[in-house]
Amino acid sequence: MRRFRFSVSVPSILCLLFVVPLSHAGEPAVLKAGVAKVEITPTKPVQMSGYASRKGLSTDVHDPLSARVLAFESGGKRLVLVSTDLIGFYGGTAEYMREAILEKCDLQPSELFLSAIHTHAGPTLTTDKEKGHPNNLAYTLALKDKLIAVICEACRNLEPVAIGTGVGYCPVGSNRRELRISRNGESSIVLGRNPYGPTDKEVLVMKVARADGTPVAAAFDYATHATCLGGKNYTISGDVIGLAEQFVEKILGPETIAPAFAGASGNIDPWFRVLPAFNTEPGWVPEPVLLGTFLGEEVVHVYRDISQTDSAGAIGTAFATLQLPAKPSEDAAGKNREPVPFNVTVGRIGDVAFVGLGGEVLTEIGMAIKAGSPCACTFVITHCNGAAGYLAPKHLHVEGGYEIRSTAYAPQAADVVVRESIRMLHDL
Ligand SMILES: [Zn+2]
Repeated sequence: MRRFRFSVSVPSILCLLFVVPLSHAGEPAVLKAGVAKVEITPTKPVQMSGYASRKGLSTDVHDPLSARVLAFESGGKRLVLVSTDLIGFYGGTAEYMREAILEKCDLQPSELFLSAIHTHAGPTLTTDKEKGHPNNLAYTLALKDKLIAVICEACRNLEPVAIGTGVGYCPVGSNRRELRISRNGESSIVLGRNPYGPTDKEVLVMKVARADGTPVAAAFDYATHATCLGGKNYTISGDVIGLAEQFVEKILGPETIAPAFAGASGNIDPWFRVLPAFNTEPGWVPEPVLLGTFLGEEVVHVYRDISQTDSAGAIGTAFATLQLPAKPSEDAAGKNREPVPFNVTVGRIGDVAFVGLGGEVLTEIGMAIKAGSPCACTFVITHCNGAAGYLAPKHLHVEGGYEIRSTAYAPQAADVVVRESIRMLHDL
């Protein structure tokens, strides 16, 4: 099927683009899917990712981490969604994993959506022999082999399916950009809770079932950081999103896998955030369990209400590395820096779209992509195929705050990502 791959160069903004047409002319597309799941819980104490202040190794495990794969195939084209209960693929590990997976599983770059749920209660991935802890190095090497095996397994398990989508809503995520006014009247944006700030409350659910109606998968997309647990926590967990996946699988039964995807949530935290531990006080429901169950119950409600399914979705995918304008440096009189790359992967199965963003994208950007998408249902999947850090909409650069200080991108970069993501979807 490689003959359908061609590359297009357009001025300056795209350095790489693969486009795969929708279907063979005249051939009815039969949609197939295969799933597989593997446990990826560290078996030794590891350095945990997400908080620079946390120096020690993990001490125990609350709930298992997994990698879940949902592979689609139609007319010789594939679209492989991979959800991992990890923080993300930082430090070059996205490229490291993708290169190995693409080769061993014979996938095109645009066909693989390798993503993470952004739990901050999981291991740090590293291939750095100088700085990485030996247990984390060993974990990362073993993870590569596990991902190759589980993705290849899902691609071998293909069988005819029908898919349907539904949308629910969940208030578990809160905008975290809190306005503080000091005694002398100075304002600042701090990490906290801004209950009236924008949040994308949609819970998108995709039901995948066999022709006889038996379930295959309940994939879902929701925009929140998985950070009920903070930098004082040393217990391994999938946090709010991982616990939601586990809840959905427990309720729907072992035959159904529930891969989760983190929507645009760079400025969205769980309602209860950065707590030191699972509270074991008698009668107390630990916050990650409470919020994960709340989200999981909404996923199950939506899943059970999906009655319309379609078995004829043609697949199209595309991958681009955008070269985005960098934030001017604060020294040397605001000198401009070199453009900073940002990976965008788009896919389409019939009228369901997937937009994989290789960074930590603020929620307004995800909502803009969904609003402009040509498809009825658009899964925005962040921490996908890259880890370029925060990307914030232009107007928030005026307010400042943590995400603005951290980002490598100029204020106008977000508009480019929105525009290009939508354009790429239209081109499929
Ligand atoms: Zn984050």
